[in-house]
Amino acid sequence: MLSNHGISQEIFERIRMVSGPVAGLHDPVLGDLEREYVDRVIREGYVSTVGQEVSEVEKRIASLADVDYAVATSSGTAALHLALLCADVRPNDEVLVPAYTFVATANAIAYLGAVPNFVDIDEFSLGVCVTRLEKYLNYGFYKDKSGSLRNKKSGRRVSCIVPVHCFGLPCDVVVIRQLAEEYRLKVVEDSAESFGSKIDGRSTGSFGLAGALSFNGNKIVTSGGGGCLLTNSEESATMAKHLSTTAKSSVGPAYFHDVTGFNYRMPNLNAALLMGQLDRFSEICKAKRATHGRYVDAFKDMDEISVRSESDSCESNYWLTSLFLSEPDTNIVSNVIAHCAKDNIAVRPGWTPLNKFPMFIKCPSDKLPVTNKVARSVLCVPSGANLARRIKV
Ligand SMILES: *Cc1c(COP(=O)(O)O)cnc(C)c1O
Repeated sequence: MLSNHGISQEIFERIRMVSGPVAGLHDPVLGDLEREYVDRVIREGYVSTVGQEVSEVEKRIASLADVDYAVATSSGTAALHLALLCADVRPNDEVLVPAYTFVATANAIAYLGAVPNFVDIDEFSLGVCVTRLEKYLNYGFYKDKSGSLRNKKSGRRVSCIVPVHCFGLPCDVVVIRQLAEEYRLKVVEDSAESFGSKIDGRSTGSFGLAGALSFNGNKIVTSGGGGCLLTNSEESATMAKHLSTTAKSSVGPAYFHDVTGFNYRMPNLNAALLMGQLDRFSEICKAKRATHGRYVDAFKDMDEISVRSESDSCESNYWLTSLFLSEPDTNIVSNVIAHCAKDNIAVRPGWTPLNKFPMFIKCPSDKLPVTNKVARSVLCVPSGANLARRIKV
């Protein structure tokens, strides 16, 4: 039996076998391809919110993500904000959301004056646990006279659920959608981390009323900063586009705006960078899968660690590979991180459950045993597509 110290050392050495020394968590793959597209928009002068690249990336994203409409935005958070507006989330509503996610998921809810209501996850998909969700919906809520779902304790209307595909692993959004229909909830998918991930061959982000992608520098492909709203609803697409472009309703040069809109459109310069990234998309996805496979191999005979992988009928984009300690242990987590830091290998713990943050500490919540366990068990390891330096840039 290895001591705790021995276990940390062993995990560190196996991570380094895959990552090599000096590795970021998700270094982007950028080179001549991106440079050419960016050069072109600089030459032509269309670097801001007007330009053909931003419309072109929307077409390409819609096709890659199996949706009818894509609306490019300045961030993934902006796309989520717009998606929640499309879902008619109103001030003082509650929105069900997993506690185990990046803070942006809940921030977008708070932007609307709505209140996150945290639900637990399952330890394999790291997404909303559908068994617990069904129980929670059963005992914590009721339908009012108009048929809206309400929280028994707070009395607030509950209008929407935001499942998250954590680290690229598809969650059980098919069952979540069935429950949502039964309980009259809209579904907005946070697929910021899961562009390219599929369930039975169909892309994540295409299952709800709307989905949100992120193209931040750490995501599977990047526009520097940016995001995209995905939807099959023409009405939602029109509304999102309108709101993202300051809600200008006049045609031609006059300034007339019919509601309070946002400056959320993706700039053309960022879209140009993304054009290059989309050219590489399948190569990047292949490389991510190969890296994940190397971690699986490196840890297959180590009982203390399992590597989280896609379940049957799902395909993960393997944006970020996560190691899972069989016994939760925050000392091992911090020791491994410290060992890796000495070799400039970026490893980080998984998410801090959102209900621990001051602004969300008083939010309603189901019991979160699995979230709390996962928070003490996960190590995210270097997963940049070009770890093995096989992609020509
Ligand atoms: C990155 C991310 C976002 C937000 O995307 P930004 O482009 O950084 O605004 C939202 N949700 C999740 C789960 C993310 O990982």
